[in-house]
Amino acid sequence: MRKPKIVILGAGYGGIITSKQLEKLLKSGEADVTLINKHDYHYITTQLHKTGAGTAADRQIAMSIPELINPAKTHFKKGAVSSVDTTQQVVHLEGGDTVSYDYLLIALGFDIETFDIPGIKEHAYSIRSFRSTKAIYNQIIRQLNLYKEDQDPSRLTFVVAGGGFTGVEMLGELAEGLPKLCKKYDVPFEIVKIVAVEAAASVIPFFHKESIQYTTEVLEKFNIDMYMGTKILECTPDKVVLENNLEIAAKTLIWSCGVKGNPIVQNCGLPVEKGKLPVDTFLRVKGKNNIFSIGDCALFMMDEKNALPPTAQVALQEADVCAKNIVATLRGGDLKSFEYHHKGSVASIGVWAAVGKVGNFRLSGLFGAFMKQVIEARYLLNLGGPSLIIKQHFGVSKEPVKMTANQ
Ligand code: FAD
Ligand code: NAD
Repeated sequence: MRKPKIVILGAGYGGIITSKQLEKLLKSGEADVTLINKHDYHYITTQLHKTGAGTAADRQIAMSIPELINPAKTHFKKGAVSSVDTTQQVVHLEGGDTVSYDYLLIALGFDIETFDIPGIKEHAYSIRSFRSTKAIYNQIIRQLNLYKEDQDPSRLTFVVAGGGFTGVEMLGELAEGLPKLCKKYDVPFEIVKIVAVEAAASVIPFFHKESIQYTTEVLEKFNIDMYMGTKILECTPDKVVLENNLEIAAKTLIWSCGVKGNPIVQNCGLPVEKGKLPVDTFLRVKGKNNIFSIGDCALFMMDEKNALPPTAQVALQEADVCAKNIVATLRGGDLKSFEYHHKGSVASIGVWAAVGKVGNFRLSGLFGAFMKQVIEARYLLNLGGPSLIIKQHFGVSKEPVKMTANQ
């Protein structure tokens, strides 16, 4: 008898954890599982700012997918998904390859929201993937080297747009990483400028007053120039244009002003709402019994007005339930409704500080930074057990990661 085919698109948080769960839940020979990802590495999205600032080795952030899965149970296919034909039950990959499925999970993650602001797509750098953040690092090195030739101060001005959690984590990491890079490339750090621009009145505007104040103080101690209540209107190769007739001469704008669902979901012949795939309480794409979606490309409504946010925490909790529901569908069993339990959020501000809330406790400072490490270690434990934690902290390869696919 032909074995049912389960195909998972995307090996980010949602996709890789679902495939690991399926390895545990499926009986031997019960189904063929194929995991498709555009790169052969899984990257720790929540740590991408470290790649951008050069404060982590490549292999601490990007890990070989074949080494994370059990090849006897999951077949890994490297390929970029271009579309899905739900009538023929076939996934199309760039280059013309196709993969057929009986059960499909779409977990293709997020893309950067640019709000169509002129010049952002063309000239700004984004914290979107391992590759895009490696591009930030390479740009920093290029500018440090070019500064030594022409002494153009705009080369040493690094602007971070958006003061949400991503922007704050990037700012903290630049403040930690740039002094070391300046030393290495023989450029005086004292003339480097790190600039934060946020449209709202403060950084992390959605957080508690005390946490906002703490974060602002830490960033100011790092000598970061803060433009709050100021929208970015345009980016060119040489300057960032702000509201109120302000301009910043800079060759590097790091854009972290929010995310949207991966636009590939528009090519799947499935209903799309707010740029994402609307899912029911069992994480099935609405109207489809054999197609599931989780993570940043799925729209899960908690009530009539509020959708779950695009976070790793959501994607990971969804992955557990989704794996169970794929197996239940395959076996003709009962499906489990997804219930989200918010455990808290913690954002790093460099190595020694962090801000957040876990349960009813507001965290900051060194304790917050410690908790952030604990959260990251728990993910590694879930992904590859204690041996992965040890390898990532003590035995990680210093070889650079080769990038072959597009962003
Ligand atoms: P992703 O993890 O983005 O994975 C998508 C996967 O699909 C990737 O492997 C990608 O390569 C692949 N892919 C994309 N397009 C294609 C294609 N066409 N074909 C094949 N493969 C494709 N959330 C938290 O809860 N806590 C945090 O501390 C936190 N920190 C963050 C820090 C930063 C700097 C950023 C940017 C985000 C952070 N988030 C955090 C948000 C979190 O990272 C995302 O919500 C999470 O990654 C979503 O998981 P996902 O599986 O949906 O997508
Ligand atoms: P966000 O939407 O949370 O923040 C974007 C910020 O950019 C907002 O404060 C907004 O006011 C600002 N902005 C928008 N347009 C602007 C403009 N033209 N000029 C200047 N500022 C502008 O986006 P994010 O920080 O990228 O986070 C995305 C998701 O990832 C969120 O769900 C977040 O919770 C999650 N995340 C979590 C963590 C964590 O838990 N440690 C870290 C990073 C991201």
